[in-house]
Amino acid sequence: MDALITLLPGDGIGPEVIASAKRVLDQVAAHSGHKFKFTEQLFGGAAIDATGQPLPDDTYTSCINSDAVLLGAVGGPKWSDPNATVRPEQGLLKIRADLGVFANLRPVKIIPELAKASPLKDELLSGVDMVVVRELTGGIYFGEKTRTETTATDLCTYHTHEVERIVRIAARLANDRSGKLCSVDKANVLETSRLWRSVTDRLMQEEFPHISLETLLVDAAAMHLLSRPADFDVIVTENMFGDILTDEASMLAGSLGMLPSASLGETSLGLYEPIHGSAPDIAGQGIANPCGTIASAALLLRYSLSLHEEADLIERAIEAAIISGARTADIAADGDKVLTTEQMTDAVIACLS
Ligand code: NAD
Repeated sequence: MDALITLLPGDGIGPEVIASAKRVLDQVAAHSGHKFKFTEQLFGGAAIDATGQPLPDDTYTSCINSDAVLLGAVGGPKWSDPNATVRPEQGLLKIRADLGVFANLRPVKIIPELAKASPLKDELLSGVDMVVVRELTGGIYFGEKTRTETTATDLCTYHTHEVERIVRIAARLANDRSGKLCSVDKANVLETSRLWRSVTDRLMQEEFPHISLETLLVDAAAMHLLSRPADFDVIVTENMFGDILTDEASMLAGSLGMLPSASLGETSLGLYEPIHGSAPDIAGQGIANPCGTIASAALLLRYSLSLHEEADLIERAIEAAIISGARTADIAADGDKVLTTEQMTDAVIACLS
């Protein structure tokens, strides 16, 4: 297969982890005979510095003409003035909206060898393997905002079709996994959540009656994620709740640096990125954990290119590298040999077979 992949390294550790993922994809291409062509584009703070815009037109055009987009991270102290009119995060929200990628999938699977890196007790982590499906292009992050000197408002809106399409994606995923779906809302307080719940209940009854549906209020879900994480399979929720719960869930895996995400829409063009930010505190040192970005490249192969075997190969290689003892600083325990980003990438590549 021939595929064109747009790389958006962005800021901070973004370029370092994207370089790692590209090396792994190059290696997979060499093994499998597929041809992956890459084009690297400006995005985020780096794009603001070069063009004044976080998502320049050339970058957007490259993304929509690609088979998939792999993104590092954006932001950093240089662009974090809250009064600035142009900010890197605007580029993120815009690319998600413009590509129509309304479903953000965040798998969280525990590699037993990393249980010690998590703040939770080992026995709670055993068997944790879930996917959080977050609605990505609606809700309060995209609503009208107002501000006076003493008052601020953020409007939260959801339409029936927005709930239907995200719940359908989550239900199909649950269907391919253990057949369990948990929908998270705040229906005791929010009107948008009451709509969310009634649409979800109806759609699940009509289209997925064989899937077991659990409904949790978001405050209870935050607690259950820590007290019984292994009970969850697929969780579906709205934009802001998903943002918060996925960061919470990431701590189960020990480090933000391990976890990938896929943002999908109605077409095969998807946006793939690690769940971490630009980590300015370690940027430029060559010590970032590349595994979340490499695992995002695996999701890219699976969801945008339908290369399931190659995706499995990369995921197995990450796991095998960890099992063999490869550790970057964020997941190392006392006495472990600590690898650089490049050495960790070498370790994953060595396990690709
Ligand atoms: P962060 O995820 O960048 O970092 C949080 C902590 O985790 C830091 O100590 C960092 O060193 C560590 N960390 C993160 N990724 C790591 C990796 N791959 N390997 C090792 N350690 C890693 O979050 P933050 O510090 O809150 O935000 C920093 C900047 O990133 C901010 O400007 C923020 O707006 C931006 N941000 C961007 C995205 C994105 O691009 N999608 C997401 C979150 C935050």
